[in-house]
Amino acid sequence: MQTPVGTRTSHDRHGLYPEATTVEDLRRNLASVRERIDAACHRVGRDPASVRLLPVSKTKPEASLRLAYAAGCRVLGENKPQEAYRKWETMQDLTDLQWSVIGHLQTNKAKLVARFASEFQALDSMRVAEALERRLQAEGRSLDVFVQVNTSGEASKYGLASEDVPAFIQELPTFSALRVRGLMTLALFSGEAERVRQCFILLRTLRDQLRDSAPAGVGLDELSMGMSGDFEIAIEEGATVVRVGQAIFGARNTLDGHYWPTDSNTEESPS
Ligand SMILES: *Cc1c(COP(=O)(O)O)cnc(C)c1O
Repeated sequence: MQTPVGTRTSHDRHGLYPEATTVEDLRRNLASVRERIDAACHRVGRDPASVRLLPVSKTKPEASLRLAYAAGCRVLGENKPQEAYRKWETMQDLTDLQWSVIGHLQTNKAKLVARFASEFQALDSMRVAEALERRLQAEGRSLDVFVQVNTSGEASKYGLASEDVPAFIQELPTFSALRVRGLMTLALFSGEAERVRQCFILLRTLRDQLRDSAPAGVGLDELSMGMSGDFEIAIEEGATVVRVGQAIFGARNTLDGHYWPTDSNTEESPS
């Protein structure tokens, strides 16, 4: 696969994503993100059908989520387990709407996630795996999971260090309610596209190295990487899932440091 090096990040455009307030807005935004996904696939000779778009609805009100549903979304990504749980509770009339939790989980919230989520993308410790397994068994449910890897090397980011991933993966067959699908990462949040690209390359390389030695039942086909500002680069480097919020729903008012620790707010404990 050839690597285009000219694709840029667009983190600086976040403030320009207008709020989507109608179903037409959402249809148009979804179509335009999908077009950009397809174009990125074509640049590197990938089948556009190999990339799933996960719309991320965190901080957005229930009304916006219902518009997204009307525009055709059947899976929504949420960062915070409690916010996701609350939204699930109030939207149970949409029986075919599924929830993907993409943010860090504390063991005391495993119970919530086990109850309603269909996918969890931020598995980063044995304690969380154990807590989820226990709660899922109690609910009689299972969960698709992605192992989160810290590819940026920032001490403040969640995720396993890449060198700890192989041993972690070997332990996962113990948890029969967790269906391991692949790896997930958040790249460096930066306008320096080549440094962002290195994070994605690291995740793909790790996946390729581990795929053959993965224990039976552990699938490592999926690579969840890329968000509004960098999903095209992620696709060029092999993403099979892109998690896109602001380019679909509109800019968030909340600082992203509320959702994952950044260097400037590491003294606050993320919840
Ligand atoms: C919010 C979030 C995204 C999406 O970010 P946008 O800038 O809204 O596209 C992706 N991944 C995770 C883990 C998130 O919390």
